[in-house]
Amino acid sequence: MDRGADSFGNDDLVHDERLSPNFNERRLPVTMAVLHYTELPHDEALDRLTDPDAGVSAHYFISEQGRVTRLVPEDKRAWHAGISCWRGVTDVNSASIGIELDHPGHAGGYREFAPAQIDALIPLLAAIVKRYDIPRANVVAHSDVAPARKIDPGELFPWDRLAEYGLCLPKPAKLELGDPFQNDGAFMLALERFGYDITEATKAVEAFQRRWRPEIIDGAIDGQVGAILFQLLLDRDRGLTR
Ligand SMILES: [Zn+2]
Repeated sequence: MDRGADSFGNDDLVHDERLSPNFNERRLPVTMAVLHYTELPHDEALDRLTDPDAGVSAHYFISEQGRVTRLVPEDKRAWHAGISCWRGVTDVNSASIGIELDHPGHAGGYREFAPAQIDALIPLLAAIVKRYDIPRANVVAHSDVAPARKIDPGELFPWDRLAEYGLCLPKPAKLELGDPFQNDGAFMLALERFGYDITEATKAVEAFQRRWRPEIIDGAIDGQVGAILFQLLLDRDRGLTR
């Protein structure tokens, strides 16, 4: 049975196809992957992502049991990121693959992501990253690209597991300096340089914390977040990451 195998032959990673009418043409090449949670029960989420009146979609949906459903072909522009910005790209939908994770979200009783779901995500994402040569720094959370509006997939998302497979930037193993930023303004400029939209400063700091220092998310610029950001930028400048 043809389960929607595409020209890349990745049908072993994609189990179902339920095409959404919510897409249009890309205006940019794919250079990013954006991860989301649905914050809805399984069936409602799939209904919404394929409802023409809802006007939202993603390329893939992954159930908590690890079933991957294709909603939008990868060459089309899915509608998952909304108003967003990452490293100067403001049409994130045109430049990204969007993946929705079946999850109750913060509103529905925030909890750990199901291991089977992450086990399905890793090979799917690995194939995507390879196909488009996506830089590790461009595998991001919805909260990274829309810090003023979004907090998904949130602080319990297991970035460490993705990093094990080289699918996102790892948390810097060692920090070379204490607090390299003399003031909050310098930190914010560095945060913008790393990729964040800093229009709403506190929200941008929270998004950075949610991703890189999830133990404390308070929007305050402290020495630890300063050191983490500095290390991330240093590694990029040295060509260790991109
Ligand atoms: Zn989202």
